[in-house]
Amino acid sequence: MSKKILIVGGVAGGASCAARMRRLDESAEIVMFEKGEYISFANCGLPYYIGDTIKDRENLIIQTPQKFKDRFKVDVRTNAEVISINPVEKTISVRNGGSTYHEHYDALVLSPGTSPIRPPLRGIDSPVVFTLRNIPDTDRIRPYVDSKQARRAVVIGGGFIGLEMAESLRHRGLEVTLVEMLDQVFTPADKEMASVLHQHLIMNGVRLILGDGVKEILPTGDTSAEVFLMSGERIPTELVILSIGVKPDTEFVKKSGIAVGERGTIVVDQHMRTDKPDIYAVGDAVEVVDFISGKKVHVPLAGPANRQGSIAADNIAGIHTVYKNTQGTAICKIFDLTVAVTGLNEKNAKKWGISYIKSYTHGSSHASYYPGSFPLSIKILFEPKTGKLLGAQVIGKDGIDKRIDVFATALRHGLTVYDLAELELAYAPPYGSAKDPVNIAGFVAQNILEGRMPVFYAEDVASIDGSRQQLLDVRTKTEYEQGALENAVCIPVDELRSRIGELNKEKEILTYCQVGLRGYLATRMLMQQGFRVKNLSGGYKTYSNAQTVNYDHSYMKNVPEASCSSPTSDSKDANRRVIDACGLQCPGPIMQLKKAMDKASDGEAVEIRATDQGFAADVPSWCVRTDNTLVSLCQKDGVYSAVIKKGKPNDVCTVPQTLRDKKTMVIFSNDFDRMMAAFIIANGAASMGSEVTLFFTFWGLNMLRKDAYVNVKKSIAERMFGMMMPRGAKKTKLSKMNMGGMGTMMMQMEMKKKNVYPLSELIDQARQSGVKLIACTMSMDIMGIKKEELIDGVEFGGVAYYLEKADNAGYNIFI
Ligand code: FAD
Repeated sequence: MSKKILIVGGVAGGASCAARMRRLDESAEIVMFEKGEYISFANCGLPYYIGDTIKDRENLIIQTPQKFKDRFKVDVRTNAEVISINPVEKTISVRNGGSTYHEHYDALVLSPGTSPIRPPLRGIDSPVVFTLRNIPDTDRIRPYVDSKQARRAVVIGGGFIGLEMAESLRHRGLEVTLVEMLDQVFTPADKEMASVLHQHLIMNGVRLILGDGVKEILPTGDTSAEVFLMSGERIPTELVILSIGVKPDTEFVKKSGIAVGERGTIVVDQHMRTDKPDIYAVGDAVEVVDFISGKKVHVPLAGPANRQGSIAADNIAGIHTVYKNTQGTAICKIFDLTVAVTGLNEKNAKKWGISYIKSYTHGSSHASYYPGSFPLSIKILFEPKTGKLLGAQVIGKDGIDKRIDVFATALRHGLTVYDLAELELAYAPPYGSAKDPVNIAGFVAQNILEGRMPVFYAEDVASIDGSRQQLLDVRTKTEYEQGALENAVCIPVDELRSRIGELNKEKEILTYCQVGLRGYLATRMLMQQGFRVKNLSGGYKTYSNAQTVNYDHSYMKNVPEASCSSPTSDSKDANRRVIDACGLQCPGPIMQLKKAMDKASDGEAVEIRATDQGFAADVPSWCVRTDNTLVSLCQKDGVYSAVIKKGKPNDVCTVPQTLRDKKTMVIFSNDFDRMMAAFIIANGAASMGSEVTLFFTFWGLNMLRKDAYVNVKKSIAERMFGMMMPRGAKKTKLSKMNMGGMGTMMMQMEMKKKNVYPLSELIDQARQSGVKLIACTMSMDIMGIKKEELIDGVEFGGVAYYLEKADNAGYNIFI
């Protein structure tokens, strides 16, 4: 008699199981239940369809129920939700529209997946809040974006889906703010690796807020809301993507008495069997064993879901295949960067008490002399005794996928760092290097294990004891001047032999260079001369990445555009020199720039193109240090392009740089048109990097009043005064042609049509871009306006405060 096999869930795990089952047993009766309308769709492609990278919606649907039935003879039932299981009678209950029916099974496979977490926040059900799991979610988000109702988006959560959505929405031209509660995005990687992504997100125009969570979402209209953060910040938006994580869709499983773990994940053995006879479970809804630690973990990824689906089918068919645990190999594209991980990361190693040694290396995607190479960074963890690989993280623009796959294979088969050094990998200049970055990671780890290169790490720098230890920077003087560790002496590696006498043998020498290689050479030199030496793993580059940077986006103020078309083609100065420093690791591009600027005459501009990710941060500070002018900095397809003019900017402007960066305005009026002008100028100046202070006095103070009435203690005169004056930006009127409010209304309608932000939003933007709003305390006193009546973020000051600001500013405007 043929077996009746029921499968719950028709996507990755469920559909793989059904297809494999049919290949193993032509006679089985297979029924697949899917509570949604679609089966076997490409959920991993959904963000890219919203971002219009995938153009055709049909491409997301890999199989229709009919095609699946035709090929695999599977009875596919969509809009059929399994609501309970009776493991004793071996039946399930299925809800289909208004009716419920039962089905008997010989074997049951559960693959219900996960659904997005929706915390019970105020405003979570607002129509502008979306989550992304399936095609219907996509069908809600994409038309909303297409309709251009949203100009701004807030993405909550910096995991895979959040990052992919942030990128997709930027592609669609939205202003995107990404809010992440932790101090890093992409938590499968360690923070010092993920920090490269932070800069990259900012460089691509994403406003990144780390270490802050969402408190509530307040709707402000049918298609607008304000996201309130724990810190008190308010972000006005028209679209919220909630992507803070997922939870197993297993309520019906729990109710049916099948064992589930703490997180609601179904407990299974190696054969994907639950604790009830003939019931299997696979995919995102199950608990798996971590490949390295042996701990129970939840790793919702498509690869494991597909494999487990096949394994469940094997076991039902009598083939005793086992699932050999999950190593969490994952990869994510974030604009022009790719980050990938496999196995253990340092956070988990610490949490689980697993001993490890770590090593950082930096290399190139392929031979740096062949065009189009990009830097990549690797972190590996390995066992201190055996050198067995425990985990790897790789980040860069190109060639990340192949490196992580080599590491994933090595890890799966228990290879050591010695094996990594020996791997014979394909090489020709367009593809790699004779010593591939994977080999190099192996060589370096081997040197650490065998004591040829003792190492110290970025986190050790803070506790260096100058009485016992000496920091030695072996980079060139120019690199050292660009930024160095405190109290380090600089002896370039090529001068070290002749200047070795400058070092004290009594002290432990802590050497470092930019990425670790020259530090290694110095270590070998000094060790053989009897010094005790350690080299900084990953060099100054890793150290810089490990620092907690205040992502205030300020260096981006020098960046006119998030990306640039062809920096050379739109050059105003057709004769300006262009330096191609692509493929060179830091400090290569800066060295090239210095050489070119040394030769340039005053006022002459040089354009430099580089692929090193640190270049975007290095070039503004290099210009400041060397008294040159950064004219523009932009990025396209992972190539940074900067135009630098020789000399200080005061040869193009008579106002000194320090003053040009500061602007003050006295806001006396509360007229709508004057206020619009004031805030447009203030926001424009702030976005160009100026420090802007607005001093509100007399009628101008009304602008800062909250829209809602605030009940505070006041005298009768103060109360009357308050009633007669406009309360907040929404109550202001045109200075001319107000026509009983008609004129103001018409003006507001015109502004909306022409996409000019309303006044209240301009005020919000000003606050967000750091414009200082100062309420004149003297006027407040006279007019009886109390602090509680004013909007958040206002500071209070007197005339002296204002005059001090005005004295130090290049421009002062009275409105
Ligand atoms: P799912 O694919 O979620 O399928 C479960 C199905 O079961 C659902 O269709 C659901 O409607 C149905 N169901 C649930 N309960 C019932 C019930 N009671 N009765 C009937 N049907 C039910 N993974 C990667 O590895 N790489 C990626 O790049 C990647 N990108 C992703 C992007 C997005 C936007 C999303 C949402 C996921 C992404 N994933 C990615 C995760 C990957 O899609 C999942 O790991 C994989 O789909 C899990 O397969 P599954 O069968 O366990 O669950």
